Parts: sequence; C-alpha cells; structure tokens
Amino acid sequence: MIPLKKFVPRKSSLVLWCLSVGLLVAACGKSSSTSSQVQDFSGPQLYGNGLADGTVALTFDDGPGPRTAELSRYLKAQGIRATFFIQGSSAARYPDALEQLAADGHLLANHSYTHPHMTSSADPVTEVRRTDDLIKKYVSDGHFLFRAPYGDWNARVAQILNSAGLTKYVGSVFWDIGGDRVTRGDGSLSSAADWACWSYQDSVEQCLEGYMRETRELGKGIVLMHDIHSSTVDMVKLMVPQLKKEGFKFARADEAPSIVAALARRSDSSKDGMISLEQLSCPVGFVATRVGQDGAALCLSETEAQGPFTQAMQDACMEKGGGDACKNSRWSRGLAVWLHGQGRCPIGATFDADLAACVEGNNVFGPFSKEQVKHCKASLADTSSPVCESNRWGKGFLAQVN
Ligand SMILES: [Zn+2]
Repeated sequence: MIPLKKFVPRKSSLVLWCLSVGLLVAACGKSSSTSSQVQDFSGPQLYGNGLADGTVALTFDDGPGPRTAELSRYLKAQGIRATFFIQGSSAARYPDALEQLAADGHLLANHSYTHPHMTSSADPVTEVRRTDDLIKKYVSDGHFLFRAPYGDWNARVAQILNSAGLTKYVGSVFWDIGGDRVTRGDGSLSSAADWACWSYQDSVEQCLEGYMRETRELGKGIVLMHDIHSSTVDMVKLMVPQLKKEGFKFARADEAPSIVAALARRSDSSKDGMISLEQLSCPVGFVATRVGQDGAALCLSETEAQGPFTQAMQDACMEKGGGDACKNSRWSRGLAVWLHGQGRCPIGATFDADLAACVEGNNVFGPFSKEQVKHCKASLADTSSPVCESNRWGKGFLAQVN
C-alpha cells in the first residue's frame, strides 16, 4: 500500500506509437516520424517540476478511506482542488466517496485495482481497466491519469497498456515531494512520507515539518500523501493553513505542465483507444463515421455504407429478408448502422487487444487508416488491386504487409 522508496524512472527510446495506433503494424519499424504525436502511457514518468514557483499539487493515493469524504469537503472549503489516485479495491469499500470527490471538484485518477508492482504484475491491463470502470464516469474533460503503485514502472508496462487500447490514459504520474522520510542529526525530519511517519510513530506535527521543509526547498511540485491514513487527514488540516501562510498556491495534477502536455499530445484516437476518424481511409464519397459509443466506425455516405461486412451482419441481413443484396459490399446506410451494433466492433467481430482491431475468424475489420492503406499498396506488386481499399483484410495478409 505504500511506496518503498523513490523509483528511478528509466528513460526509453522505445517507439510506442506503433502499438498505440493499433493495427498500424505495416508502418512499425519503418517510420517513427510521428512517434511524438501520441503520448498515452509513456516510458518516462511525469513530474510536477514545471509547475509555477510556489505552486503545489496535493495528491492522495490508495483511497478512498474512512475519512476521504471528510478530507474532500475540507479541501473544497479551503478552495483547493486536489487529485485522488483511486485504488479500485478501496473504492469498493467506500462507494459514496467517489461521488463526493467529483462533486467537490477533485480529479479522480487511477492507481490500479489491487496495488501490485506493475512491472511484475501478471495482468496490468485488468488492474487499470477495473479501476477505470469505477472512476471513468467521474473523470471530466478526458483527463485520465494513472499512477503506478510504488512508482514501479517501465516502458514495457506502458507498451502493454497502450496496446490494450488504454491510450486515453497518461502516466505514470510520479511525485516531487513526499516520497522519502529522512531524519536530520537532531532527529527532526528534512523530508517526510506520511505512511513512513505513521509507521515510525512520528507525531502529525513532526511529519508535517518534514513535508514543509521539502516543499520549501523545492518551492513547488506534486505532493504525495495517502488518504487511507487518518493521521494524514489530520496533517492536511495543519498543512493547508501553513502552506497558505507561506504564500503557496494549489493546483490539480492535471494542471502540471508535463501532464497538460501529455494529455494534449494524445491523438484523437488515444482518447477512445481507436484510430482517429481523420486518419481513416474510406472510398471517395464516403466519410469515416463513429457509429458506436465505444469507437466503432463505418465508411458512410449520405445514403450508403461501404463494406465488406462481417458474416454475422450478412446473416442478420438475410434473416431480415434482404436476399442477395446482403452479399453486396454497399448497403443502405440505415441497415448497415443498425446491423453494425453499437459496440466497438461490428456484430460477429470481437476486439483483439493485441491487434487493436475487430476480428471475425481470420478477418480483420476496418476501416483502416490511410497509413495502413499506403503501406498495403506499397507491399503489393499490383498497385491497381482493390484489396487495400477493402474494409476486410486477412490476419495473414497483415503479417505479409508487415
Ligand atoms: Zn499506492
């Protein structure tokens, strides 16, 4: 439940872009010119050192706890918006706290479900997803932040999460203040970490002094605390007046410039885990259009939809008495949208996290991105072949293009 020590983030030159745009395997390894477009989960961690001098972002991990709602109301009364990195298993115990936090203007963020070491977790994707399911309705403006428990993070985990379609998240968000409890010669603290204070049985005042010294020394930053500890709530009620007295201002973590930039760099696609509509390739006269809440797209004109369509859609079309027209690659717009379903994938297809695409049997369903189509054409000797314009490719064909 507690960070053991400051985790030194590893820099990585790994290009995450290929995975974060999903099916764009054809371009991977050949072009990294757009690698800066998508931040998503990144290898290096995010810090608050770009905050204005005298500004701190209070962050609370592992909750909600028994006094989280009380803390939420206190901070609101003080005019402070903070960031709460929610541990899903804690939220299950205090379900009302999330609504309170959101109502009070705080940012709810993701801190995994069971608090594992992410770099050795057997299922980091489920850890993020389960908590996402709990908090997403409270996260406004799409500001999805993740903080790895213990700050245990590397590029490999980032890559796994991006490739699973979780690219609406940025992170991991680290901290600048509150990571270490360090004693001075006289026994007082030159810096503090709340969980360590309480395990060493420091008083609230002693721990506060450690936080204040580190905050004065750095002058700004993201402050780490844990709202599951009652003593931490007591400490915050002394810390806030002290910080105000010394002229400090408060920000939410999503106002830290490094995080603002990371959120802005996400492509449109990353906000919903799919390729952006502008990047999708459709025949002349057709426009890529989202038809489902979860990001499914179809190439639509005013009256028609461009297939090919899944076998399940064709079967449903036949059942409705559509006859041979069901085998055509262009359907009426209304029929196609209706039979497509309202999920991320057309009916009959399931989302393949590895491919980040909708798959039915050996078929992968588009529409595909302009880049994919370009690489598809480049891989074919016969450039006049319509295969690259099709919305249905074979899985094996993808590998061949690659
Ligand atoms: Zn934690």
